[in-house]
Amino acid sequence: MSQVQVLPAVTAFLQRDHGHFINGKMLQADDPTKIDVVNPATEAVISQISLGNHIDVDKAVTSAHQAFKTSWAVTTPYERGQKLLKLADLMEKYGEELAQLESLSTGKLINLARQLEVQQSVIFMRYFAGWATKITGKTMQPSLPSMQGELYTAFTLRQPVGVVAGIVPWNFSLMIGVWKLASALCTGCTIVLKPSEFASLSLLRLAELSVEAGIPEGVINVVTGDGTTGQCLIESPLVKKVSFTGSVPTGIAIGKLAMSSDLTRVSLELGGKNALAIFEDTNIDEILPRLLMATFVHQGQVCAAPEKFFVHASKYEELVTKLAGALRGMNIGAAMDESSAFGPLSNLPHFNKVKNYLEQVKQRHQIIVGGEVCDRLGYYVEPTLLAVNDAEDPLLNEECFGPVICIIPFENEDRLVEQMNHARFGLTASLWTNNLSRALRLIPKLEVGTVWINMHTFLDPAVPFGGVHASGMGREFADEFIADYTETKSVMMCY
Ligand code: NAD
Repeated sequence: MSQVQVLPAVTAFLQRDHGHFINGKMLQADDPTKIDVVNPATEAVISQISLGNHIDVDKAVTSAHQAFKTSWAVTTPYERGQKLLKLADLMEKYGEELAQLESLSTGKLINLARQLEVQQSVIFMRYFAGWATKITGKTMQPSLPSMQGELYTAFTLRQPVGVVAGIVPWNFSLMIGVWKLASALCTGCTIVLKPSEFASLSLLRLAELSVEAGIPEGVINVVTGDGTTGQCLIESPLVKKVSFTGSVPTGIAIGKLAMSSDLTRVSLELGGKNALAIFEDTNIDEILPRLLMATFVHQGQVCAAPEKFFVHASKYEELVTKLAGALRGMNIGAAMDESSAFGPLSNLPHFNKVKNYLEQVKQRHQIIVGGEVCDRLGYYVEPTLLAVNDAEDPLLNEECFGPVICIIPFENEDRLVEQMNHARFGLTASLWTNNLSRALRLIPKLEVGTVWINMHTFLDPAVPFGGVHASGMGREFADEFIADYTETKSVMMCY
């Protein structure tokens, strides 16, 4: 046991009467209704947040619009980048506070909260800060014929779209919030963030740090609440872009609402049912630690993580035996205990969803290891490995978003590709092989947004990320986010 002491600053923050962060300060909510924040490791209510309504949303969007037209519009790209860098420094300075808030409210293991949620968010923020000074249009040579000797030239400008609504899920609320916030701010947009009702605290704290970073009031706003709050945001005529990360059904509803709100542009990062394939040339002992990390990080509550393992028949028994042994030995424990390797699921509705999924798959497939809810306080389920009886079972194409892996043997490469593509989703996939020709042959055949080779569940700010099919629309990171947050203005001149 190595239980982390909760910082006094964190205790004080939890006890605050949280309103919404609007126009550079915490404002009291219009509606006194509160939402409990529950620690999933203990089931105790540790704090409360406000349920934002259309009045709160109007205030936040108006403040973001004002800032877009005034202070942020006259902030140079260099200054924008500097302010994001300062905010990244402050995230580092207050990193332990942010990590503890995430761990206490979402059950994320404290070490993961420190190293992935906070430290990676800092890296992403610094990456986007660099883009602030590099957003440019193009020049082009028109090919119109000259009638009377006149000449033409043309260029494009990239202009920020305006107020962005960033709607965030609970699994990596700080990091996904940072992706949206930093993309918006570096392109010259302002933002209203709507965190998940299950994980709002770290983004509320980050918004406060933005004042210390010198980011003008109104540029960053955070309105807490549930789906109704998110809807108010999308319906606001001043919101010009919705950046959503979350589940497929919510994404589809948001897409429709955005289209009916005067074609508000929308990007959707949604769920998946990601598959990996392990070939006969792999060394199972070598890849096992990487497989475990990629699959069971944050109890499998990672959109990019694999849920289906296709394993070459010659390696099936060895992988099953070694994987099952590793899962049986996994130290399941409290999220704030540094020695835990596996913590609780993040909230009660999700715990019930995973429990229900387990009950269904158990009736149709064979549990190799796990499969049960843990007999302890908190929303814990065992890491689970299932041998598949019927590879055509539609349940195998439903996102579980938990620590439940289906393992399926294969022999034929064409059939493998069919099975890996047989889902309405297309977020990620990976191939585990040292055979370069095979990898290069298969990469184009996989219908997903990201393919990894000998790795899985790694996101990098320099590499675009997003899904195909029902896994989403649009890409984050690299230079691909720029088109989503800016409009192209074409300029033609005659001289
Ligand atoms: P969710 O769709 O239930 O909620 C996401 C956010 O949308 C929350 O802030 C919620 O309050 C809000 N919301 C819900 N209904 C809404 C509505 N009608 N209008 C506007 N806002 C609404 O998702 P979740 O349970 O928080 O997150 C888990 C899901 O997110 C999984 O499916 C996972 O795969 C997906 N996810 C995808 C990515 C990615 O990058 N592709 C990353 C992380 C999570």
